[in-house]
Amino acid sequence: MNEMKLVFKSRLENEVFARTSVVAFLAPLHLSMETLMEIKTIIAEGVVNAMIHGYEGKEEGDVYLEVCYDEEIVIIDLYDQGCGIADIETAMQPLYTSRQDLERSGMGFTIMQSFADVFRVESTPGVGTSLHMEK
Ligand code: ATP
Ligand code: MG
Repeated sequence: MNEMKLVFKSRLENEVFARTSVVAFLAPLHLSMETLMEIKTIIAEGVVNAMIHGYEGKEEGDVYLEVCYDEEIVIIDLYDQGCGIADIETAMQPLYTSRQDLERSGMGFTIMQSFADVFRVESTPGVGTSLHMEK
């Protein structure tokens, strides 16, 4: 498998960096526009969650993004060492958001789950959150 790892600061401008880096890394696969759009959306939702929820907007935090692929599969692992999620089941409900004050719609997890073939969330309060996705 080909593999890459990125670590970047929890700054919102790095969301574009993350998305475009992954698309560039996956270029040899010649994926369809639709699949690439879905992967970009997964990355964007996950990275923004790590930044605004995990690190609560604090820009010193590191976001970790690992992608590997072969001819059959793309695997994305994304994690933060932020505040973590106390109740994953509730957090994953469509329209659930802990940040109504930020006018979030609570659809990030639902969108990521619908675009990925395999989607797993692990989180420990005070330790961080990791997402595992396969496409
Ligand atoms: P939207 O994604 O539609 O802007 P949202 O981010 O609130 O809104 P989801 O992405 O579905 O919705 O996330 C649901 C909730 O899960 C968040 O409101 C937050 O409480 C929690 N959450 C998600 N990702 C993380 C994370 N990396 N660290 C801590 N909490 C998280
Ligand atoms: Mg979100």
